[in-house]
Amino acid sequence: MARTLRDLPADLAGKRALVRVDYNVPLDAGQVADATRIEASLPTLRWLLRRDARPVLLSHLGRPAGRPNPALSLKPVASALADLLGSEVLFSAPCDGKDALRASRELRSGQVLLLENTRFLPGETANDEALAGRLARLGDFFVNDAFGTLHRAHASTTGVPARLNPAAAGLLVEREVEALGALDRPRRPFVVAFGGAKIADKIELMRRFVERADLILVGGAMANTFLRAQGIETGASLVEEAALDLARSILSAGEERIRLPTDVIVVDRSSGAGESVADVRVDAIEPGMAALDIGPESRGRYAEALRGCAAFFWNGPMGLFEDPRFAAGTLAIAEAAAEVTATGGFTVIGGGDSAAAIRRAGLLDHVSHVCTGGGAALEYLSSGRLPGLDVLVERRRP
Ligand code: ADP
Ligand code: MG
Repeated sequence: MARTLRDLPADLAGKRALVRVDYNVPLDAGQVADATRIEASLPTLRWLLRRDARPVLLSHLGRPAGRPNPALSLKPVASALADLLGSEVLFSAPCDGKDALRASRELRSGQVLLLENTRFLPGETANDEALAGRLARLGDFFVNDAFGTLHRAHASTTGVPARLNPAAAGLLVEREVEALGALDRPRRPFVVAFGGAKIADKIELMRRFVERADLILVGGAMANTFLRAQGIETGASLVEEAALDLARSILSAGEERIRLPTDVIVVDRSSGAGESVADVRVDAIEPGMAALDIGPESRGRYAEALRGCAAFFWNGPMGLFEDPRFAAGTLAIAEAAAEVTATGGFTVIGGGDSAAAIRRAGLLDHVSHVCTGGGAALEYLSSGRLPGLDVLVERRRP
């Protein structure tokens, strides 16, 4: 297991804590539009400030492709963080170089330094050694609390901790890894639900869970691919043709435990009179119809299947939930998950859109854990490893 904050030396007073955070937040007209990720970093920052350490924060924002881009500056995050943390937050650009180094050394008790977007420099995603070396000079020890980027081997995630000792996981990363790790040996019955649209990314994970789970509920565009793999007409529905063989192999590995929708909500654009929305049985989907949600019968079956389960993992919405006409399936699963939690079950939600759906349902605080990083969660669950986590182990100095 990676080192945690509790493995750091007891006396951190005056020491610069170089912290990789995930402040990849949505911006709107130069303001932070959703501060969830900033809030998620507060426990670690407070833990460090209580010990009088001097936090120096590194993060990326968006995909500036190695060039400075004012629209993707972390500057607006500095003031949002200052408000949430109730501390003075200084800002320095660029994230490497003389100014950043001076600012890190001049930090006073209680102050935090946020550095400019790491991806303004081409060396970040290339995990450039020289950049990692320059960044490593900005701290006396390293903390990674950016769960959402642990699956990336970048300068700020793997390059720095390879050079800066000690290096530890922050409280958010610790909590995420614990929650996902618990699914390795889940309480039973263990039910998983898969949906969403990014099937190619998830089918490997699904293969693993087919071996481990007692029941697998499938919805969303994922279900369309499975239906098509069984030879069912899916009309104009979103189907991943390239994944049909994989879907067949998953079905043959665990058909008796896999549940597919028996009815779906379709939009029919074939008639000249514009769109019509209907609930149809899956064997009645016509060429002009696109399945955009699971139907009421399937909703009921899935909610019933979840009743009384001891552990539940959910990745991917059951339909195009952004449109209220196709949100009922996703909402039903969100409510069932809250019910499982309320009756003592352990529930984990992974995936950015799934998290957005549970937030929209107002049930964020009614499940055991919502992952802050979809890609990282999927990689950890599939392989049990994350590059950014693997470097946070005890190392002797050369
Ligand atoms: P997550 O981010 O939770 O891992 P994905 O990114 O895989 O989930 O998929 C989420 C997206 O899938 C949502 O935007 C949703 O609208 C879309 N989606 C779900 N079901 C369907 C469907 N039947 N047809 C088209 N899009 C769908
Ligand atoms: Mg997504």
